[in-house]
Amino acid sequence: MLIGDAAGLILPITFEGIGSALKIGILAAEAIVKCFDDGEQVASLYLKSLEPMLQVIGRLCTVQDQLKASNAGADPLAKSLKNAYRETLTIQET
Ligand SMILES: Cc1cc2nc3c(=O)[nH]c(=O)nc-3n(C[C@H](O)[C@H](O)[C@H](O)COP(=O)(O)OP(=O)(O)OC[C@H]3O[C@@H](n4cnc5c(N)ncnc54)[C@H](O)[C@@H]3O)c2cc1C
Repeated sequence: MLIGDAAGLILPITFEGIGSALKIGILAAEAIVKCFDDGEQVASLYLKSLEPMLQVIGRLCTVQDQLKASNAGADPLAKSLKNAYRETLTIQET
């Protein structure tokens, strides 16, 4: 079973993959445990459990395409990200 980057399951737009790699690792482990309990093929259990994540990634790919195609470009998104980084990474003076 492929998980994380090896499975191509990186989130579009932000290209973050740590959270999805962790989550998918857990799903893979659960599928292995379940196949012993239920006698079902591990691959089909794993693929079934991936479906919600694949739907989200598919939706975000569409948003990414829309951002690329829009007249506004990536500016609104870039500004929001810049503000978020500033708020979370700036060391506060005491
Ligand atoms: C510069 C950069 C910044 C990033 N920033 C973020 C971020 O801020 N937030 C975020 O969520 N994601 C970020 N990502 C993406 C994130 O790092 C990956 O999506 C995530 O680490 C994927 O986890 P993984 O376990 O699938 O793969 P990896 O973390 O790449 O782990 C795979 C491991 O397998 C090892 N390996 C490879 N081949 C073999 C082999 N043949 N035998 C044994 N071992 C092997 C590798 O050395 C590695 O340790 C960033 C990526 C990069 C490159």
